[in-house]
Amino acid sequence: MARTHVIGAGMAGLGAAVALARAGRAVTLWEAAPRAGGRCRSHHDAMLGCVIDNGNHLVLSGNRAVSDHLATIGAADRLVGPAEACVPFVDMATGRRWAVRPNRGRLPWWLVSAARRPPGFGWADVAASVRLLRAGTEATLGELLPTGPTRAGFWEPLVLAVMNAPLDAAAARPMAAVLRETFARGGAACRPLVARASLADTFVDPALAYLGAHGAEVRLGRRIQGLEWRGDGDVAALRLDGGEAVGLGPDDRAILAVPPSIARTLLPDCPVPEGDSAIVNVHFRLERAAPEPVPGVPLVGLVGAAAHWVFLRGDIASVTVSAADALAEVPADRIVAAVWPEVAAALGLDAAVAPPARVVKERRATFRQTPANQALRPPAGRYGHRLLLAGDWTDTGLPATIEGSLRSGRRAADLALQNG
Ligand SMILES: Cc1cc2nc3c(=O)[nH]c(=O)nc-3n(C[C@H](O)[C@H](O)[C@H](O)COP(=O)(O)OP(=O)(O)OC[C@H]3O[C@@H](n4cnc5c(N)ncnc54)[C@H](O)[C@@H]3O)c2cc1C
Repeated sequence: MARTHVIGAGMAGLGAAVALARAGRAVTLWEAAPRAGGRCRSHHDAMLGCVIDNGNHLVLSGNRAVSDHLATIGAADRLVGPAEACVPFVDMATGRRWAVRPNRGRLPWWLVSAARRPPGFGWADVAASVRLLRAGTEATLGELLPTGPTRAGFWEPLVLAVMNAPLDAAAARPMAAVLRETFARGGAACRPLVARASLADTFVDPALAYLGAHGAEVRLGRRIQGLEWRGDGDVAALRLDGGEAVGLGPDDRAILAVPPSIARTLLPDCPVPEGDSAIVNVHFRLERAAPEPVPGVPLVGLVGAAAHWVFLRGDIASVTVSAADALAEVPADRIVAAVWPEVAAALGLDAAVAPPARVVKERRATFRQTPANQALRPPAGRYGHRLLLAGDWTDTGLPATIEGSLRSGRRAADLALQNG
């Protein structure tokens, strides 16, 4: 029976393996780490005494690969968020608060409502949005977006969250794809959603349970050290960490779903984006759950602060700082000291009482999402006859996100099924 070997149990690999298992294909999923999830994972933190994620992950209700995948693995109810699109902000310099609230339908009348649009949003922003949707491959967001008050109060937090890059470096094209699939489709497609209990509980454990129930083999803690090649240039075998080789039969396929730094070592001839961007998260264990700035919305954007976003889950308040290469070099206690007063102010807490905190530095959170690197993304899918590529860094048209990863995994699985 034809078997597909999936290498890497991040979102792309899990997405591919689930799609294959669903179609009845024999699957083996190889993961180097002792647990699945890759850059989207959770663990129990002994000091905080609770489960935390490696970082806050936000998805939008318009992310259709996320919805399809969670429905397949029986976890559709494990994302939570408001019933209507709403993203609250606070300006740390002035204390001013507002919320961006796109209306449900496609006709964007929210842009003419002062209670729903970002402060200062006007014709320059509408014109910039149109320019953005038509952006060329070389364009950065910094060139296209207006320089008025909405730059710092709306566009910058949005771009940092989606692209993990500052405006002047971030490629415009992938951001345009996100806007087309979310904001341009109305508020129903841009409700902010987060994992209910943890990333593992929503994205990882149900996928592993699904794979187990469908007879897939999951090999955690098994690193693929190398690929062996046939004379015709296609892959012949996977070489494991212990030195043993797993040969591929004529109808077998392999899907490489590893991060770009590993793809570069396994496939030296494959174009791979260069350089990574860090994300720093700080998880504070509060004495008790803090009230959400807008009830039912578990996050708030901070303007003019070191902390970019604060997410709330029970008594955990978690800060995200994106494009954080410099901050990742700062000692954890100094990061905590810098962001705690901002968190306290945003949530209306007493800044004098600093709660226990855990800093998680993800130095390789995403590839550096510049125009130059867009050109280096290989197509998601075929690399040889029997080897397929997946991962957030492949050319999905989207930024490096869960949605992009899942789509790349799905595409690779579809190709493996067509040819098996
Ligand atoms: C802190 C942080 C915050 C983020 N926030 C968001 C967000 O808000 N919204 C969003 O949509 N996305 C967000 N992302 C991005 C998202 O997490 C990634 O795009 C996605 O998880 C990437 O999945 P992947 O499967 O492509 O790669 P990975 O998650 O890197 O998975 C690759 C897997 O391959 C394994 N592997 C590596 N080498 C080998 C080998 N030789 N053999 C076998 N296995 C191997 C790795 O251990 C890993 O498990 C965030 C990322 C981080 C780090």
